[in-house]
Amino acid sequence: QARKASREPYVQFRTQHREELQRRQRIEEELRRALDTDPSQLEIHYQPIVSADSGTLVALEALLRWTHPDLGSVPPTEFIPLAEQSTLIDKVGAHVLATACAEVAANPQLRQVMLCVNASRRELTNGEFLRRLSETCEQTGMDPHSLCLEITESALAPLDGGLLALLRHIRALGIQISLDDFGTGASSLSELYRLPVGILKTAKAFVDALEEHPSARTILSGIVDVAHAMGVRVTAEGVETASQAATIAAVGCDLAQGYHFGRPKPLVEILTEDPVIPSTPGPPDDL
Ligand code: C2E
Ligand code: MG
Ligand code: MG
Ligand code: MG
Repeated sequence: QARKASREPYVQFRTQHREELQRRQRIEEELRRALDTDPSQLEIHYQPIVSADSGTLVALEALLRWTHPDLGSVPPTEFIPLAEQSTLIDKVGAHVLATACAEVAANPQLRQVMLCVNASRRELTNGEFLRRLSETCEQTGMDPHSLCLEITESALAPLDGGLLALLRHIRALGIQISLDDFGTGASSLSELYRLPVGILKTAKAFVDALEEHPSARTILSGIVDVAHAMGVRVTAEGVETASQAATIAAVGCDLAQGYHFGRPKPLVEILTEDPVIPSTPGPPDDL
């Protein structure tokens, strides 16, 4: 009896482990199938990135949504890390880039709005990424100067010469680079001077901590000062309240994103609901 009881947690662990493996395998298979044969399961939602002081729409971040007929809605926090473990992320990334560029470029009222697309390390290093970028812009009519790649800090570690050269080539196409989730990874203010980034996007953790920890504000303010001294803009991510919005503007963040300003939603909803699309032309390079 005692022996049986002591084995139970182990059996439970094994069962749970097997179920997790099966779910992961299923998700990988089904995502591949969706991309190959039923891309209507995939939809891109766009989240506003606004000017921190005026609230004007500056950019839209493309965030992938997947609704499977049986599995229901699968969150990107589950399927993106899985896809990143294989070349599947290349298919995912190519799909998002092509679809988002086509959707945004088809709307002349978004000409002054930057499109931000997330890119994973494996995509950057697949040897075809630069060609994919320029071909996609050409085929969709997307102006490279209105395109921005969000790359997480951790995706760039380790930073070797090849990767650095690639980033410079991306910049040479006119495409912006934004360092996503900045301040969480193997974070490296010490690497920053080497990176051709135009925007630092601070991790949500900084904004989360603002109210409880006065030092979070000090750190954010310091990041802004360092960034500005290098000619780099700062986006505060994960702004959920008016008070957080006021604080990040006060410390000098240039741009803001978060539920307070708008959740990710289909482009048609952005176009019909958002009253803040800028009508006055100004060079997108201004970002
Ligand atoms: P991310 O690029 O850092 O995107 C920000 C995430 O935070 C999004 O989650 C967004 O919906 C969420 N978010 C935005 N504002 C707020 C807020 O105020 N409060 C809270 N609690 N959350 C907020 P989502 O869409 O679930 O995406 C999660 C991650 O999945 C993204 O993090 C990104 O790393 C990845 N991802 C999504 N789509 C793609 C894609 O097309 N390609 C790649 N490579 N990664 C993607
Ligand atoms: Mg992002
Ligand atoms: Mg982020
Ligand atoms: Mg966000």
